[in-house]
Amino acid sequence: PVVLGVESSCDETGFGIVSDGVLLGQGLASSAVQHADFGGVVPEIAARAHLEAVVPTLQIALDDAQVRLEDITHVAVTSGPGLATAVHVGLAAAKSIAWSLGTPLYGVHHLAGHAAADTLEHGPLPERSIVLIVSGGHTSILAVGDLVRDPIEHLGDTLDDAAGEAFDKVSRLLGLGYPGGPAISRAAVDGDPAAFAFPRAMLRPKDAPYTFSFSGLKTAVARTVESLERAGEPVPVADIAASFEQAVVDVLVTKSLRAVKERGLDTLVIVGGVAANARLRAEAQRACDAAGVELRVPPPRLCTDNGAMIAAVGDLLVSAGAEPSGLQIAADPSAVLHGAQLPLLG
Ligand code: ATP
Ligand code: MG
Ligand code: FE
Repeated sequence: PVVLGVESSCDETGFGIVSDGVLLGQGLASSAVQHADFGGVVPEIAARAHLEAVVPTLQIALDDAQVRLEDITHVAVTSGPGLATAVHVGLAAAKSIAWSLGTPLYGVHHLAGHAAADTLEHGPLPERSIVLIVSGGHTSILAVGDLVRDPIEHLGDTLDDAAGEAFDKVSRLLGLGYPGGPAISRAAVDGDPAAFAFPRAMLRPKDAPYTFSFSGLKTAVARTVESLERAGEPVPVADIAASFEQAVVDVLVTKSLRAVKERGLDTLVIVGGVAANARLRAEAQRACDAAGVELRVPPPRLCTDNGAMIAAVGDLLVSAGAEPSGLQIAADPSAVLHGAQLPLLG
């Protein structure tokens, strides 16, 4: 199979081409700079940018893969979750391509795509593993088996903000702009991660072991900035960014490794946009090395939204003989990743 993946759930327009677990090529466009002044993604702007990016970005992917459009045998597309206006553009594009080529079409769950991204770099997942999804809209610990055949078990989520959302909000209040993750990371390079003792929420013994909360951390950062400003003191942006980043990383690493140990497993997979974070990657590696756990994290360009990860899911579905979704597939902006059969299908 030569599977084309289409992603448009947020502000990235992505096309990727995967064949038998191998990434042949991809194209990616982002409207992030157009949202910078608003501190977050504006759905209408994202949708219009997707519309303009679809044809040129598809061409980039085809050129990169050295594949002709007629060589595509299957099309996979994000059907949710995501911004409704944005998902619709990719869905319309994918339907048009599948219809014109006469190929099967698969609707794919966006988070399954994030998880599958790692298989493009490190091969098939082991029989069972813990997957930490850390992205703009989700912070979840999952127990995962065969990505296509086995139910996905949800161990815990965030009670409030997602980890990426916390990066975006703190970036905004430090005046560092959108997207917040890369901006905070850059600012944190010269900062002292121990300068401020920001809260690590939900780590007491009585707290739910795999549940996260990041809104208190964001509030603590806001209070710190306010009181410094009120006192007329300079705001040490680098120290605050580094200390914030360290607080997020400590909780993510502690809880996900706890899940690996308590389940008696030996592999931790970290995926989603926040997995691009250098401090998270380094600290997770250190903790996993110490615990004798194998850490799998995709390269940063496969952590943030892209079409290759959607093609990876399509490729797994095709290999497993899954029934295509068909051209009538609808967008599902608030799709949940549940334990149904074929959990990857959107
Ligand atoms: P979801 O996948 O939950 O639907 P999304 O698709 O918007 O949400 P992703 O594209 O996976 O999310 O990730 C984007 C998020 O990742 C943003 O919140 C961004 O700030 C964060 N992010 C990106 N790069 C980094 C980084 N280097 N460090 C920390 N966070 C980062
Ligand atoms: Mg994005
Ligand atoms: Fe995403």
